[in-house]
Amino acid sequence: MSEPAKVVVVGGGAAGLMAALWAARGLSRQGPGSNPQAQAVLLEGGSRCGVKIAASGGGRCNILPTDADHTDFHTAGSLNVLKRLLRTWRLQDLNSFFEHDLGLPLKECDDGKQFPECESASQVRDQIQDSVEKEGVEVRQGWKVSLIEKTESGFRVHSEDGNQIDCIKLILACGGQSVPASGSDGSGYRLAKKLGHSLVAPYPALVPLTSKDKDFADLSGVAVEVTWRAILNKRVQEERTRDLLITHHGFSGPAILDASHWFTRDNATIQVSWGGGPAEEWEAHLNAKSRRELHKALSDILPKRLANLLIEKVGLRAEMRCGNLSRGQRIRLVNTLCHFQLPINGHAGFGVAEVTGGGIPLGEVNPSTLESRASPGLFLCGEMLDCTGRMGGFNFLWAWITGRLAGESAAKS
Ligand SMILES: Cc1cc2nc3c(=O)[nH]c(=O)nc-3n(C[C@H](O)[C@H](O)[C@H](O)COP(=O)(O)OP(=O)(O)OC[C@H]3O[C@@H](n4cnc5c(N)ncnc54)[C@H](O)[C@@H]3O)c2cc1C
Repeated sequence: MSEPAKVVVVGGGAAGLMAALWAARGLSRQGPGSNPQAQAVLLEGGSRCGVKIAASGGGRCNILPTDADHTDFHTAGSLNVLKRLLRTWRLQDLNSFFEHDLGLPLKECDDGKQFPECESASQVRDQIQDSVEKEGVEVRQGWKVSLIEKTESGFRVHSEDGNQIDCIKLILACGGQSVPASGSDGSGYRLAKKLGHSLVAPYPALVPLTSKDKDFADLSGVAVEVTWRAILNKRVQEERTRDLLITHHGFSGPAILDASHWFTRDNATIQVSWGGGPAEEWEAHLNAKSRRELHKALSDILPKRLANLLIEKVGLRAEMRCGNLSRGQRIRLVNTLCHFQLPINGHAGFGVAEVTGGGIPLGEVNPSTLESRASPGLFLCGEMLDCTGRMGGFNFLWAWITGRLAGESAAKS
């Protein structure tokens, strides 16, 4: 049998490609091994690496945020571990890596998001994969891992179709289980569990939420700015202002994708302020427009069809003048405008969720290296770990940071 590879990475998504690149760089610093071809090997189950990178950001790839801290992420694990991991690769160094190392100049747009200047997600995937291959990593696509065994010197990795490869260090970067057609089908969790890990129950995140409310379904296509609040045990857990999109099946858009985590994981109530402003702003608007008809005053700020639906839901006449509202009617109206509980009954599922929440607990890896505490020699990175970011490039940020750390650590140890 041939000599074991020094490092094998399972999964060629954002985290796995980054892990392979930095593992190869680390290994090359140590000089060539007796079998240089087998220094670092990347095993990708699908026919191509980086399917999600190529589909990301509506084809433009929201590669990074402009700013980030631990409040942009969700994990059931320790916030200190999360903060520590985020500090391992600062945003300005990541920017420089993409621009100067990979030759992908970036530009900031859409409020806090960074995209490559080429605006081509598939070019981002191709350039990262090219760099990985130029660094000497042997990339095997169509190599779906079905079983991993521990050996005396490390691990034996088996493919679905009967191939096998031995390695000394192993990195699992199999993603979660959202959009399984992209290759991340949850098999990584099963592999990690067999190697001694537990699992924070996976749930769909950044996912549209569904509703049975026919009145809203009739407004499908309406987009509006809202301030959303996730409410759990009468306490506001998170509040942000983003755009909401009404769909045939419920609610979507950045506001809902960001808020969805609270519903799918905790069954929290999602409340919105239509138009985004606080109650005082609506009060001031209604006062200033006292001679205006209600539907016209609300349509100054909201799409007309939505304004009419909300007036109907409060049980008022659209033609009534703002100044003629009784105190009770005004309170009901402002309450509906600013504290509206979205009629949500479910979510659109893993098939369309952009990411998977839950995963391998952060407490089961060494936060300095991402080495498994259950199986020394094994490293974990990316969406497999119990951490997801909100919309805006935070999930790639997590994949790049943890991929690099796992790759460097595996090469070093
Ligand atoms: C449509 C869409 C758009 C998105 N846009 C953005 C965006 O613009 N910005 C952003 O920050 N995030 C975005 N995301 C989220 C982002 O793509 C993911 O968070 C990120 O790709 C996770 O990287 P990963 O490497 O951990 O997992 P993945 O990208 O899921 O990669 C895992 C890889 O492992 C392979 N694999 C799985 N199991 C096995 C196995 N048993 N054997 C071998 N290989 C295996 C899979 O085929 C896959 O290639 C988007 C997600 C989707 C679905």
